[in-house]
Amino acid sequence: MPKRDAEVLVIGSGAGGSVTALELARAGLDVIVLEEGREHALTDYGAPAPRAMRALYRRGGMTPILGRTPIGYVEGCCVGGSTEINSGFWHRAPREVLLRWKTQYGLADASEEELAPHFDWAEEALGVGTSDRPWPRSTELFARGVERMGWSYQEVPRAAPGCQSTNACAQGCPTGAKSGMSRSVLPQARAAGARVIAGVRVLQLLTRGKRCTGVIARRTNPDGSSELLRFEAEHVFVCAGPTETPSLLRRSGIRRRVGNTLRVHPYLKVAARFDENVDAHAHVLPLLQVKEFWPELSLGGAFCTPGQLAMTLAENWRENRDEMRHHRQLAHYYVGVRGSGRGWVRPAFFGADSTLIGYRLSEQDVIHLSAGLARLAALLLAAGAKAVHPSVAGLPSIETDSAAARWLTEPLPKTGLGLVTVHAFSSCPMGEDESECAADSFGRLYGYENLRINDASMLCDSPGVNPQGTIMALARRNAQAFASAPR
Ligand SMILES: Cc1cc2nc3c(=O)[nH]c(=O)nc-3n(C[C@H](O)[C@H](O)[C@H](O)COP(=O)(O)OP(=O)(O)OC[C@H]3O[C@@H](n4cnc5c(N)ncnc54)[C@H](O)[C@@H]3O)c2cc1C
Repeated sequence: MPKRDAEVLVIGSGAGGSVTALELARAGLDVIVLEEGREHALTDYGAPAPRAMRALYRRGGMTPILGRTPIGYVEGCCVGGSTEINSGFWHRAPREVLLRWKTQYGLADASEEELAPHFDWAEEALGVGTSDRPWPRSTELFARGVERMGWSYQEVPRAAPGCQSTNACAQGCPTGAKSGMSRSVLPQARAAGARVIAGVRVLQLLTRGKRCTGVIARRTNPDGSSELLRFEAEHVFVCAGPTETPSLLRRSGIRRRVGNTLRVHPYLKVAARFDENVDAHAHVLPLLQVKEFWPELSLGGAFCTPGQLAMTLAENWRENRDEMRHHRQLAHYYVGVRGSGRGWVRPAFFGADSTLIGYRLSEQDVIHLSAGLARLAALLLAAGAKAVHPSVAGLPSIETDSAAARWLTEPLPKTGLGLVTVHAFSSCPMGEDESECAADSFGRLYGYENLRINDASMLCDSPGVNPQGTIMALARRNAQAFASAPR
């Protein structure tokens, strides 16, 4: 088996891995990034959804989260990871969340003030800001509904300077306006000397006592052939994302507090029909969020294509299928909750490539989703929607305020909920409380001297806001702390 060496191996090139590679390479370390997915040219981005999903998504976009209420989940599998297919919405970790992490998990040195320089840096590097174009109609209608409800909204900054509103975020931004890692941080990491090797899946970490000595990986060639490779390194950072990081650790025999505490933000989508052509599918997704009811729940706009609308309507397809004739009048919105349930991640018994994920939706999650649906439907009716179709099996369309208000006090049927998520984290929480955490406050796994995590898996629990900013800020803090410490 061929063998390669580096001072530091970084596994995964998403939000966490790219930042790690950049900071360590800038500090003069010899860094190799191993990325399972392939690297794509800008001209490959924005392809029709089935092709884009095969190229950029893990398992072509088919990753169920198992449970009594299953949740549809997707994540990226390409150079740049999920940042290549995300919407680029940007939040800083709220002060309240950081205080909770400090109190409940003993997370040290991660106050709002301590993280501020890392957020400043990331926002500059990614060109985070609000849009300078007129809002699309789906955004305007949402704003009108919020105002009529007497609530407030905020346009959420995005990591997409110069967004051309092509509505192709989820297929890889074809104009290059979105600052996915492949277009922003990774080129800087490469310029600083990091080597990125794509198409290489790490199958196992090699450990001896308290040290990780390297990895066994499989390179798959474009013609389908594959070969096993062995890489040795002095330090290893696992940044394979919220599901694959715990899966790889457990497959390698590292199980302490690993993969038992997955958190997600569960989302319930609705399709709203207006009596005008909104053409939501032809523009960037609605840019506003309502944080009036945070931290329990948030309301906002969802990615909208005819295919996405059909998936939402599919929960009650017989009743709703004719709505697809009016798809130009439909727009897509969501209620998202912080997620107080817990999940688990395990490598599947069958083969080294599969990971099983489960999540138990809490009763609290159901109550918040129900109240959120009531508020979202009321908002959309106030905005002028004629019908609101929730992704809940057996639930009739909501056409009146009283039909909406019902769900303020009554829980939705748990097993009928058609939930989705793109935000997963906390499967290996970090902090000084060893009874709760897999890693210390800077991502070093307990029990190991040179093995670290530095991605979404390290968040203590749900941030309740879009997570990429928090992941990047913490990853940079951790990498800088590592690089400046004596080794
Ligand atoms: C469709 C979508 C929309 C989203 N929208 C937003 C948004 O608007 N705002 C926001 O803040 N967040 C958003 N997110 C979430 C955000 O993108 C993620 O939270 C973030 O990218 C996670 O960073 P990460 O480094 O943990 O994992 P990722 O960015 O997913 O990177 C992990 C990388 O590791 C690689 N990998 C996995 N296993 C292995 C292995 N064994 N060997 C080698 N490589 C491996 C993967 O292929 C992947 O490239 C969205 C996500 C998706 C999928």
